[in-house]
Amino acid sequence: MQEPTLFHKIVTGDIPADVVYDTENVLGFKDIHPKAPTHVLFIAKKEKDFVPSIVNLTDDTAHVPTLLIRAAQQFAIKKGIEGYKLSFNCGAQGGQEVSYLHLHFLASQAIDS
Ligand code: AMP
Repeated sequence: MQEPTLFHKIVTGDIPADVVYDTENVLGFKDIHPKAPTHVLFIAKKEKDFVPSIVNLTDDTAHVPTLLIRAAQQFAIKKGIEGYKLSFNCGAQGGQEVSYLHLHFLASQAIDS
């Protein structure tokens, strides 16, 4: 069985996070080392949607990146952020440190909370 990663523990509430987006399927929280005035990480909450990385996507999890991108888009609309960058680090050699698929959302516009 998969060892719980840092982001599993954020989903279960065992590790605190600054949550800015929370729906049935997706959690968005502020990156602890922000690289832009708004830097949010979006992750899937449900175990069935867990995949370590884009590198490991299968037919069963192919919908997950879209789930995260759609959440980022909805977050931006809600916060009135008109432009932003989205990125996935893919695999250790692609700069990925946490083995739990996450979408980086970066914007030069700051959010209130
Ligand atoms: P990656 O390098 O794509 O795996 O991104 C992992 C991100 O998680 C990095 O940008 C880290 O700054 C961020 N991070 C690490 N620990 C935490 C934490 N406890 N809360 C929020 N973000 C974190």
